[in-house]
Formats: sequence, C-alpha cells, structure tokens
Amino acid sequence: MQQNALLARMHATLDSMLADIETLVRCESPSADLAAVANSAEVMARLGTERLGQAPERIVRDGCTHLRWRFGTGPTRVLLLGHHDTVWPLGSLDTHPFGVTDGILRGPGCLDMKAGLVLAVRAIAELDDRAGVTLLITGDEEMGSPTSRALIEAEAAGCRAALVLEAAADDGSLKTERKGTSQYQIRVVGRAAHAGLEPERGINATIELAHQVLAIEALADPGAGTTITPTLMAAGTTTNTVPAEGELSLDVRVRTVEEQTRVHQALLGLRPVLDGARLEVLGGPNRPPLSASSSADLFARAQVHAAGFGLPPLTAAAVGGASDGNFTAGVGVPTLDGFGAVGAGPHADHEHVRIEALAPRAALIAALMAEILAEPSRTGRRPSRSEPRDERVVNDPRRITEKTAPGHL
Ligand SMILES: [Zn+2]
Repeated sequence: MQQNALLARMHATLDSMLADIETLVRCESPSADLAAVANSAEVMARLGTERLGQAPERIVRDGCTHLRWRFGTGPTRVLLLGHHDTVWPLGSLDTHPFGVTDGILRGPGCLDMKAGLVLAVRAIAELDDRAGVTLLITGDEEMGSPTSRALIEAEAAGCRAALVLEAAADDGSLKTERKGTSQYQIRVVGRAAHAGLEPERGINATIELAHQVLAIEALADPGAGTTITPTLMAAGTTTNTVPAEGELSLDVRVRTVEEQTRVHQALLGLRPVLDGARLEVLGGPNRPPLSASSSADLFARAQVHAAGFGLPPLTAAAVGGASDGNFTAGVGVPTLDGFGAVGAGPHADHEHVRIEALAPRAALIAALMAEILAEPSRTGRRPSRSEPRDERVVNDPRRITEKTAPGHL
C-alpha cells in the first residue's frame, strides 16, 4: 500500500468521517438501556453497511445487541474490536451537545469510542483485500462485557492480532499495557456477645478483619505493579454487640498473570487470627492483564508505519484500567490497544476528539492491518481460488448468518 497515497485518501474523506461520527454520537447508547443499545446497533449497522457494502450479523445476548462483520475466512485473521455503548445516560446530548469548533469535536461518547468505530470502518474500506478481517462491535463494554466476553474470546482465538479501538492516551500514545483485575470479598464469621455484660464470650469480627486487612496489604508489591486496595468494609449489627460477622472488599490490579495467581493463592491461604473465627474468601481474577509482551511486536510495527507516514514518533502508555483488549490478550492473541481517536476526557464533561489526528490514525490502522493480512498463515497455507476472499458484495444477512459455525459464539 502506497503510504502517502493512503494518508491523502484518509484526509480526503475527513468530512465523511466527521459526518459518520456525528451520526453515531447523536444516537445515545447508555449500556444499561437495552432498547437504546439495540437502536444504536441499528444505526451502526446501517452506517457500516453503507461504507463496507456488507451487512453485519446482529448477535443478541441477554437482550444486548452486538455486531459482527466478517470478511472472508483468512488465511490470516485480524480482529478489530470496539464497542458502541457509552457511559452517558439518555438526555446527555442536551447538556453536552454535539459540536465541532476549532478542530475539536465534542459530544457524549465521541472519544469513548464512537470516533474509533468510524476509524475502523474507514480503515477497512481502504484495504485492497479485506479477507480475514473481523470487525466486532459490542454493546456492553462499559459494564464489564458480561454478555460479550465469550464472543470476544471466541472471535479472537486464532487471530494473528487484535487491534482495539479504545481512545489513545491523552498524548496520543497507544496503550501497550493494561493491568489485569481481580475482585474479592473477605468474609469473617465470629460470635456475638453483649459488649457490656460478657464481651469475653464473643469473637470480634471487626478485630479479625483488622488483622486481615494488614496481612492482605502486605501481599501487594507496588514495585511489580501489584496493588491491593481494601475498599468497602463493614461489620456488626449494633453499637453494643460484639460483631459476629464482617466483610471486606478488595480491588486487585496486576501486570502479570503470575502476580494475579500469586495474590490469588495467598488470599486463599489466609487463616483467621482469633480463636474460633472463620474466614471465607470469595471472588478471583476477572480480567487478565494485557502485558507489554502481548503488544510489543505490534507496537514496533505500528511505529515503523507512523514513521513511514511522516508522523511524530508513536509512544506507548501503560495504564491501570482494563478494556476488552485484556480478554483478547488473555487468550494469547497479540493485542494493541488505544488505536481509536486521540483526544481527552473519556467519561468526563470535557470528553473530546482532536480532528487533526483522525486521518493519520485511520491510515495507521489500515497500514498495520494490511501488513498483517499479507503474512502467510501460521500453517503456511495460502488462500486457494475456491475460498471466499472478499464478501463485500454479500448483502443478505441470512446468508452471512448461515456462514457462522455452530458453537462459534
Ligand atoms: Zn471504551
């Protein structure tokens, strides 16, 4: 792909990209409102069908609508991953209207991540051969992806790369590392007693929790990036009773699976300190880390493309927050995140997108995808004439649905 020509074409389609972002931003899609998410999926489906010449599959899980465009079957496969839900409730357009001024685009969910979806569609549209590309756009990322996680993991499996369309870091950096998360509840059962008459007969759950909090804090290893934050804690029933029960919540963040496992084992190994107290540890890992090793190769290649486009050097950011990229990295697929729009303030009043960065970012996505797709598959198999290489003319959703392998979801 000729790099200057590609970048020039992206700049030439900027007005159309802005119009598409406006269309998506004006369709509010708070994750918890399934009807709004379904409506947003239709708007996204129409827009994508128009730009890509192929309708998506609509995949509804527990009422939540996800969209999937699959182009051909490979031999090398790349996943572009995004979400069309936002954290903004219905009516946010009244307080945070869509607008473009001085090179800045604003509106609820513009950065996280409606602009990223438009970049992905634009990048796919520019590919000479899109066989092997899947664009998956889910509807519940902002809720932790309860209904889409299995879909994401199944779609990522076997892909050469997953490119995630979450916003870049504020300085435009790609997100090459995201911590994994675990959540726990520590329950203590002691014994109630009257605090005045016979406190010595009680087993104080508050004191047991106090012992445990400090023991748990000692398991953290900030140098290795492992934080353990005791968050909610409660015990007891009245002010004059030795507390019989108590509970503590923990937020655990880790940079490696080894640390996630170490903390998990250590928490399961906690023992009560007070005679007669019982301890129960509930919960565990819920998102694996996206480690630097998952993204290193893709990031290095993206840097080369950025230089080829004459863009400023690409930089990398390690962040504590998780995304769906954690799931794709967790199933062993090289993953690069923060490939969406550049701006600032996701989820915040000042959420915005920098327009000047849109065309270069779309060009970068297209160039990296094209490079990966041109590689032979891991088995060295080349596409044969009989294999579908491009489905851009297929417009019948039924036909596409029939191509879905049973159990693939
Ligand atoms: Zn997001």
